[in-house]
Amino acid sequence: MRLETDVLVVGYGAAGACAALEAAETGSQVIIIDRFTGGGATALSGGVVYAGGGTAQQIEAGIDDSPQAMFDYLTTEVGDAVSPRTLRAFCDGSVSMMEWLSFQGVPFSAALCPEKTSYPTNAHYLYYSGSEIAARDVAKPAPRGHRTHGRGTSGRVFFDRLVEAVRRKGIRVLTQTTAERLLTDHSGRVVGVECRTLHSLAHRILSRWGQTLPLRPETGPAHAQAGGLAGIEARPSTHDSRVKGRDPVRGRVRQQPHHAPAACTFLPRRASPRYPGRRWKRNRTRSRGRSSDHPP
Ligand SMILES: Cc1cc2nc3c(=O)[nH]c(=O)nc-3n(C[C@H](O)[C@H](O)[C@H](O)COP(=O)(O)OP(=O)(O)OC[C@H]3O[C@@H](n4cnc5c(N)ncnc54)[C@H](O)[C@@H]3O)c2cc1C
Repeated sequence: MRLETDVLVVGYGAAGACAALEAAETGSQVIIIDRFTGGGATALSGGVVYAGGGTAQQIEAGIDDSPQAMFDYLTTEVGDAVSPRTLRAFCDGSVSMMEWLSFQGVPFSAALCPEKTSYPTNAHYLYYSGSEIAARDVAKPAPRGHRTHGRGTSGRVFFDRLVEAVRRKGIRVLTQTTAERLLTDHSGRVVGVECRTLHSLAHRILSRWGQTLPLRPETGPAHAQAGGLAGIEARPSTHDSRVKGRDPVRGRVRQQPHHAPAACTFLPRRASPRYPGRRWKRNRTRSRGRSSDHPP
């Protein structure tokens, strides 16, 4: 199976969801893939967004804050791990980032936590999540931890609201689909991603603007079995001494662990070596109960 799209987002956590929403906003066709079901660390997190400079919640809680105070404090925290330019953009864009998240449906609250805590109770949602009070000689302290409104560790709520926004935008999400390798053209430009999926065994997702690798139909047992998968052939196991370590697309040697379910990995026909007589092997763990004549 081969898919084409304008923008492919690999990884469906907060970063992926936000990138996809922004890309869709410009009118691009977007597909998100995730090797599991999405959520990643985001859904497990505390759902605390560090934001300041005068967010709606800070203003409602009577907190005086500015992008400069936020920048001065964070400069002491991040040292040289973040460039001043990036940090400046983060601080200057903080209020609009919160507005954007709220617009997407992520709920926040101005309920101010009266004391310093590592994570506030379900009664409080705006708090000193850093060491701002201790650094008062550097910058005027302000509570900037904006915990997503929801019971418990509210990363789940944070992510679920982004999921709803992604659905509203009509963005296609393919779960249980792992990006395994970038496909590049002769100049090294990325033109696609080779994936492994539990949906249909093989997905190749190519940028609409990228050069599509020509895929020629072929015959033979292995090809016939994979023929229903849009001209993509099954790559034999790396146990096979004839192909061990070869990357048929780039012509380079690449390592593949022997235990990897190589029969579920697919490569374009064009440059792949031929293996006359070799039968496509179904992956027992991933297509249990299905006939090898009919890959899912
Ligand atoms: C317990 C905990 C609490 C935290 N609390 C906070 C907090 O309160 N505030 C805060 O700011 N930060 C917090 N963090 C950190 C924060 O969760 C992460 O920095 C943030 O979620 C990262 O978002 P992300 O979208 O980059 O990655 P993730 O949310 O992890 O999403 C990455 C996704 O990519 C998918 N993926 C990976 N490789 C592939 C592949 N090859 N093909 C397809 N999909 C792939 C993964 O399955 C995953 O779903 C916390 C982290 C933890 C673990």
